Amino acid sequence: MDAAQTAAPPSPDLPVIVIGAGPQGLAAAAHLAERGLPFLVLEAGAGPASAVAEWDHVRLFSDWPEVIDAAAARLLRSRGWTAPTSGYPTGAQWISGYLVPLADAVGDRVRYDARVTGVSRVGRDRLVDAGRGDQPFVVHVQSADGAEERLLGRAVVDASGTWGSPNPAGADGLPAIGERAATDLLSYRIPDFRDRAGFEGRHTVVIGSGHSAITAVLALARMARRDPGTRVTWALRRADAGGAYGGGAGDELPARGALGERAREAVDAGLVELVTAFRVERVEHDDARVALIAEDGRRLTADRVVVLTGFRPDLSFLSEVRLDLDPTLQAPRRIAAEIDPNVHSCGSVAATGAVDLAQPEPGFYLVGAKSYGRAPTFLALTGYEQVRSVVAELAGDREAARRVELVLPDTGVCGGAGLFDAPAATSDGGGCCAVPSVPASGALQIGRAPAQV
Ligand SMILES: Cc1cc2nc3c(=O)[nH]c(=O)nc-3n(C[C@H](O)[C@H](O)[C@H](O)COP(=O)(O)OP(=O)(O)OC[C@H]3O[C@@H](n4cnc5c(N)ncnc54)[C@H](O)[C@@H]3O)c2cc1C
Repeated sequence: MDAAQTAAPPSPDLPVIVIGAGPQGLAAAAHLAERGLPFLVLEAGAGPASAVAEWDHVRLFSDWPEVIDAAAARLLRSRGWTAPTSGYPTGAQWISGYLVPLADAVGDRVRYDARVTGVSRVGRDRLVDAGRGDQPFVVHVQSADGAEERLLGRAVVDASGTWGSPNPAGADGLPAIGERAATDLLSYRIPDFRDRAGFEGRHTVVIGSGHSAITAVLALARMARRDPGTRVTWALRRADAGGAYGGGAGDELPARGALGERAREAVDAGLVELVTAFRVERVEHDDARVALIAEDGRRLTADRVVVLTGFRPDLSFLSEVRLDLDPTLQAPRRIAAEIDPNVHSCGSVAATGAVDLAQPEPGFYLVGAKSYGRAPTFLALTGYEQVRSVVAELAGDREAARRVELVLPDTGVCGGAGLFDAPAATSDGGGCCAVPSVPASGALQIGRAPAQV
């Protein structure tokens, strides 16, 4: 245990511990610094934004102003930084143009190679009520060489994302029979298609219906246009592709809407073969080929399979923290109804703040991509609003914590996902998609209205 903190009583002098130095953890750090609160960011990777670094070849569908936090921008400007103003960065550009300078500005209050393996209250497991709220948090930390440490904090902000826990190919959410053994031929992240060797002239199956899956399908379709020997199959669990194409022109983030439109064109042009209601039950493979077998017996044989079926939060290191999570999404209950793709009818999501994120464990907050649990629609700006509000709450500024300073854009996907086997409704310019949200006075609206930072 950190010697200086071992016997510390619960005290506002203890740091707020932020888990993860991704875009959201670093934004939280900027807000904490601005408020003058002591804090420490613990990052499992060797550098800032380790998760984004794994998809640094992907171009974002948000433009620069939509991926920069306002407090972070203020901190950076004070050090002579100039904000990139327009254009859609790649993950690599997001890191070099913003996230690395931000981590540098936060300085040694970010610790790398510091994986959080547990969070609890000092001397209290999850069961114990007595004096619980008076005890500091104790955060268990492990470095890559196995060294262990315990750190005390007055609050914990978990911004550890979901990137580390991709969903499997198995349609029931568990690995299909044979899936674990076939991992050499399966990829669970968007491959860097600049290295065409594994894909050109070969057959790749992409499984999944989100924006990551569409990004992979489009990159492969481009290869197929150049080289007719390249085959692309896009396998969906759903019976209808409508929802997978996204909101198109109804999406208030134009680049995100365009992704779906281009996927539709690639399918219509015959560059991509679309297979629907394909629910993977079994995976077979030999040294070079892999076969996916669906519940209904259909079989897809390919050279590579790219599994982009979404992510789930890692709750394993939170076993001793009292959480109130939605049983479906594993997201804080108060925001789950708004983001559940089964029931949510508009794609537009009210901004969420400290009140919505509060847990039965006082002082513990899930923010960023992890706060959306298994829901796929998280946007960086959602998280920036969350951390602004959570840090205001931790600073005792209730009024600022409750104020909403952001209105998020519609995805343009109306009517929710619909029934699992029924055609999904898409934007028709009517219903909920027809009425863009009206921002509160002074609130920041993104999408059709230009964003400011
Ligand atoms: C391919 C892709 C494209 C996207 N494009 C957009 C876009 O265009 N616009 C948009 O608004 N959003 C986009 N998003 C969504 C979202 O904004 C990003 O995923 C964003 O990176 C989420 O930030 P985060 O800080 O919550 O999580 P992450 O970026 O995942 O960061 C979490 C950090 O926590 C660390 N960590 C994990 N576990 C631990 C642990 N136990 N202990 C310590 N550290 C830990 C990780 O190493 C990582 O550095 C995209 C996401 C993906 C995957």
